[in-house]
Amino acid sequence: MKLSKTIITTTLILGGFTLTQAQENAKHEDTEFYTPVPNVVTPAKIAGAAPSDAIILFDGKNLDQWVMTDDRNTPAKWKVGKGVFTVDKSTGNIETKQSFNNYQLHLEWKIPANITGEGQARGNSGLFLASIGKGDLGYELQLLDGYNNKTYTNGMVGSVYKQTTPMVNASKKPGEWQTYDIIWTAPVFNTDGTVKSPAKVTVLYNGVIVQNNFELKGPTQYVGQPSYQKAHGPSPIKLQSHGDKSEPISFRNIWIREI
Ligand code: MG
Repeated sequence: MKLSKTIITTTLILGGFTLTQAQENAKHEDTEFYTPVPNVVTPAKIAGAAPSDAIILFDGKNLDQWVMTDDRNTPAKWKVGKGVFTVDKSTGNIETKQSFNNYQLHLEWKIPANITGEGQARGNSGLFLASIGKGDLGYELQLLDGYNNKTYTNGMVGSVYKQTTPMVNASKKPGEWQTYDIIWTAPVFNTDGTVKSPAKVTVLYNGVIVQNNFELKGPTQYVGQPSYQKAHGPSPIKLQSHGDKSEPISFRNIWIREI
């Protein structure tokens, strides 16, 4: 007993000695990397403005980067004016010409000051993080008036619609511009079409985190449980023209950076 204890103690001391020796011989350079060198990106001077390497999806002038969802050959018909564009509910959803995989997205939107209606019928739109077909097919981050407007919590602004409730309600009053900053990780599929890794999303709403790397259960499902049914690749980003009768919402300053 005594002998083995001595051996163990000696081994520990030797081990400790070896480790100490290695640390003494180590140089600070050993743990410093010099490649790869990150690309230079010039950050915006104004908070929320696009950094130098962003793809501008709306700069206040036109909807050249957007098409009608249900007929992608048709340019987006929503109304542009005074540096913003506004949902035209008579026309349908719009989406980007370009498709994206993983990205960082900035988007600003405003519920009109004179908004009427309640619950889901009060400034309802939606940001589909990936549009996977016509109509409302895709993964919807809800856009809705959230200022003293009661509705089911997994359908309020900041929710991944019908999947998860936002951590907090950081809504501003109707009439004020609001921001979404989003980090989207697209789902990855196996060759047989089953999901390999689910989509994930992090959302800052008016600068406040409301979703932290939330794993989506599948594309948005209005009725029933969501699940991944069909593989898809990079997808457009879509904005919803919701069928309720409330005043249409507006957008400005939309940019994206592919990750
Ligand atoms: Mg919606």
